[in-house]
Amino acid sequence: MIKSHTTLRPRNGQRIEDTIMDLLEEDPYNEELLIQKLQKNQFQNKDHSQIYSAVLKVLTSLDIPETDSKEIWVEVLENRNKLANCLKRPVGFRVALLDYFINQNKKIKNPKIIELRLFAETEKLILVDELTRLYNRRHFETALVREFKQSTRYNQNLSLLVIDIDDFKKINDTYGHLMGDEILKQVANKIATSLRMEDTACRIGGEEFAIIFPQSNESQAMIASEKLLEACRTIQISGKSVTISGGLVSFPEKVKRCEDMYDFADRALYTAKDSGKNQIVVYSNEKRSSLRFEANLELFCVLPNRTIRSISKNISITGIAFETEDDLLVNEPIQVLLRETDSNHEISAKIKVVRKQKIGEKNYSVGAEFIDLSNESQTKLADLYSLHQFKAKSPIGVGS
Ligand code: GH3
Ligand code: MG
Ligand code: MG
Repeated sequence: MIKSHTTLRPRNGQRIEDTIMDLLEEDPYNEELLIQKLQKNQFQNKDHSQIYSAVLKVLTSLDIPETDSKEIWVEVLENRNKLANCLKRPVGFRVALLDYFINQNKKIKNPKIIELRLFAETEKLILVDELTRLYNRRHFETALVREFKQSTRYNQNLSLLVIDIDDFKKINDTYGHLMGDEILKQVANKIATSLRMEDTACRIGGEEFAIIFPQSNESQAMIASEKLLEACRTIQISGKSVTISGGLVSFPEKVKRCEDMYDFADRALYTAKDSGKNQIVVYSNEKRSSLRFEANLELFCVLPNRTIRSISKNISITGIAFETEDDLLVNEPIQVLLRETDSNHEISAKIKVVRKQKIGEKNYSVGAEFIDLSNESQTKLADLYSLHQFKAKSPIGVGS
């Protein structure tokens, strides 16, 4: 629950706006020094036009395009000098700013004067979910667009994880709605404490959360997501772990447009639910025209320090499912050899694990994709398929 307005702060991520406000609280009358401090310390690698735009946003709530922000800043300084000359006394930056936006630029028509901190707290109330104190869906939507723009602009990776608590209805039905709320708060707490400062966690629906990982590719985001899943498993009710499922998508690896990010992550989440829950599934955009077939082939995974043996559960032209005691790394290329003892078929290939689910105490159920499967290996797989005439099943994985 929110305790009071003054304590309300989202628990993760210091936004540039928050840093600006902290600096303004330290020294409210020196906006030029503020710009210098920002340029020198906090945001060295940020475009300076972005800093001007962010400071103007904090001071006026206006969305000034970054391209215009420096020019406007200079015009306000000129206006301050003019006003000071007329009044024959020093004039503050914000007085000049108000005069500039009302009388020159005319972007503000009917201003209201309010303490900066009070406005910020009111604004945060609109963006923060009351129960979990994570950001809400409204913030998620704007934050994702902002991060996507930033990633395209600076050629950086961006990943999105959408998670949903498993069998939450059962928790509510068995232990009551209040206990359900308590679990939601605990899950939110695990999410908030297991993330980096720059990640943004939001509650976007009943028991659904989204986490934006800036500057993270698929593998990095997968490591963070697995950590988060593990942290949530420590929450227990009547000795049973709370589990969650997630769908992960990464720009630019698997998605090109911001509008598709949530949709693709949600599709991967659906697959995670559909294939047993308690796991993260990475969105895959490969065309899945092939069918999977059950085949118990010997599978040898050649790792740097050892070779592990397993038996495949099913195979397709794009991937393979198997069980192993080894905690294989997600997304790491692994050299494998597949052998069919009856027909002497041998297929050598590279795979990467895209899905991993703990089953029982020791075993993992693993889904892996073939990487760069050679034409020869593809032909061998097709031969295997026709040789066995396996019953066709649904396509493996998610995707279009
Ligand atoms: P799955 O593993 O497929 O996700 O199953 P599920 O039972 O978690 O999913 P389902 O969507 O069927 O149920 C979600 C439930 O979450 C239904 C709704 O009553 C409950 N819920 C939504 N918001 C809240 C909330 O704020 N507090 C509590 N206690 N329950 C909520
Ligand atoms: Mg659920
Ligand atoms: Mg749900």
